[in-house]
Amino acid sequence: MRYFPLFLDLRHRRVVIVGGGVIAERKFALLASGGAEVLLVAPSLTAALAAAVEASRADHLPTEFVPEHLDGARLVIAATDDATCNRKVAAAAEARGIWVNVVDDLELSSGILPAIVDRSPLVIAVSSEGTAPALARLVRERIEATLDESIGALAAFCARFRLRIKAALPDLGARRRLYDWLLGGPVAAAIRAERGEEAEALLGQALLPGAIPAAGSVVLVGAGPGDPGLLTLNALRALQAADVVLHDRLVAPEILKLVRREAELLEVGKGGRDHSIAQDTIHGLMVEHARRGRRVVRLKGGDPFIFGRGGEELEHLLRHEIPFEVVPGVTAALACAAYAGIPLTHRDHSGSIRFVTAHCRESLETTDWRGLARGRETLAVYMGVATLETLRHELLRYGRAGTTPVALIENGSRPEQRVIVGTLEHVARLAAEHELKSPALLVIGEVAALAATLHWFGAPPLIATQTAERSAA
Ligand code: SAH
Repeated sequence: MRYFPLFLDLRHRRVVIVGGGVIAERKFALLASGGAEVLLVAPSLTAALAAAVEASRADHLPTEFVPEHLDGARLVIAATDDATCNRKVAAAAEARGIWVNVVDDLELSSGILPAIVDRSPLVIAVSSEGTAPALARLVRERIEATLDESIGALAAFCARFRLRIKAALPDLGARRRLYDWLLGGPVAAAIRAERGEEAEALLGQALLPGAIPAAGSVVLVGAGPGDPGLLTLNALRALQAADVVLHDRLVAPEILKLVRREAELLEVGKGGRDHSIAQDTIHGLMVEHARRGRRVVRLKGGDPFIFGRGGEELEHLLRHEIPFEVVPGVTAALACAAYAGIPLTHRDHSGSIRFVTAHCRESLETTDWRGLARGRETLAVYMGVATLETLRHELLRYGRAGTTPVALIENGSRPEQRVIVGTLEHVARLAAEHELKSPALLVIGEVAALAATLHWFGAPPLIATQTAERSAA
């Protein structure tokens, strides 16, 4: 580590900025907001800078820089585009033992300014030691995205009650448990919702002698179809606040990497035929962990409320009086269509879309085939590869045209995505020929043909219509 990170209290202390251009403008805004007594040295200022100086009672000397300008200063920023002048500032600062930052010049600088996430009193500074400012900015943006604005209010809340908490809980372990609860549980939620009084009341109760540990909760989170970029910010926050994550097998490893490192990860199946047994186990685990006061994330592929049994899980939690929240996810149909270049509705081809499941015998038996076969509607079929032949057979039987375009999308949104475009008539044969594997989604309808021209992601689609027809003949 070449640069030592340090947070300076610049209130009422002299900081000199040499330069009056756009960069000086930015540095000025930052330093003035920190309460520094800024002296600007520049023959002329941009209009905005002049206005800002005026508004903040900072000082401006409309002259060329001389070393005496640094008398009494703690820090100096050289932000001119004149290399000679910058060198002069750096030398003068060094001679006086003042920290200097020369914008875009590491050699002349004794200190560098980090990229900042400001959620005062919580402040995060990021530096690449000046070598890759763009990367530091990227990291800052990522951090910013995971911390909503309320984290500042939460930090202020902690600051306010720190001494009271310490007095009530002299034992370090007990205090740690309280903070775990405070930062991740209902207090944080109340602060996020700007209900400060409620947060205070909750804390008051928790600090009473012999208070029972707070109840845990469950967040049902949609992980999307695979591409981690399709997670919502709320999903990411839930993953990073979790004590335990119960996840489906289908959830991509890249997404599991985003889970808070201290959290326990439990794979809870969804693969075999024993749906009902697995489901009972999942219900039991959710309740068990929540009752221990833990923040449980139930992480599901796609969206939890679309063929995800999210409803059943919430009903179970309700029966056991466990509080819950739901974070929606990008469901496979939307993601697969987008990543295959298939607009699910299109003014020329289809005005409605249906999400259909054809996973197993049970779902096939209860399907309204007559309804599905009718009209120009787009069908997005969540399916087991093995049920394709029945699906094809039933739709044709009830009158959907054999020439209806279809697209099979395997591993939608993932790097290994495959898209096969053909016709309904040949769909089962195509899947077999290309050894289609789960997870795969089937889009049926005129729009499916658009994948041939609108594809943009991964390997181009296999347009299989002719080959299949030839081999069928
Ligand atoms: N709740 C999920 C669906 C669960 S059912 C959601 O909203 O997406 C599982 C089925 O979803 C799979 O059999 C497959 O048909 C589909 N699926 C999920 N992820 C997929 C992906 N990345 N590519 C293609 N199909 C996918």
